[in-house]
Amino acid sequence: MKGSKEHEYPLSPKGREKLLVQAMNYQQCKYCSLIEILEGVTDIDLVINLKLREDALIAKCLGRRTCSECGGNYNVACIDMKGDDGETRMYMPPLLPPPHCETKLITRSDDTENVVKERLRIYHETSKPVEDFYRKRDKLLEFDLPGGIPESWPKLLQALNVYDDEDKKSAAA
Ligand SMILES: [Zn+2]
Repeated sequence: MKGSKEHEYPLSPKGREKLLVQAMNYQQCKYCSLIEILEGVTDIDLVINLKLREDALIAKCLGRRTCSECGGNYNVACIDMKGDDGETRMYMPPLLPPPHCETKLITRSDDTENVVKERLRIYHETSKPVEDFYRKRDKLLEFDLPGGIPESWPKLLQALNVYDDEDKKSAAA
């Protein structure tokens, strides 16, 4: 990100996506600040911090499988646990392979519990300053994921006070 041209926005969605990926990579470099990059890209109104219980996260990371033949990605972990309140059920079904991939599944050699925990530690360490920055500015929405995408998506929309057009259509039908 050099030169002033790159600060002329708005960007196309694709350009913005590319820039965000760039920003993520920049974060790996300790001399660059993700916050500086993000703040240079656009006006940020709200940052959503998607949070999943660490035990569920680790189980899902350890459940990842790839088909050695077609390269398909699957997840054999089935998360079915009580939420932090002891009442709510947290359910994330496995993403099982079709029968013809079943016998060809492999696990990434670095998907071990120690490596996953270390990845999470680095994630928390690097994301904490970003969270703190937006929390101080009252722009951070903490969102505890209640399960997989089907369970989480409606609740996230609710938290944001927006409604899915599809929901409205089906509600009207
Ligand atoms: Zn396959």
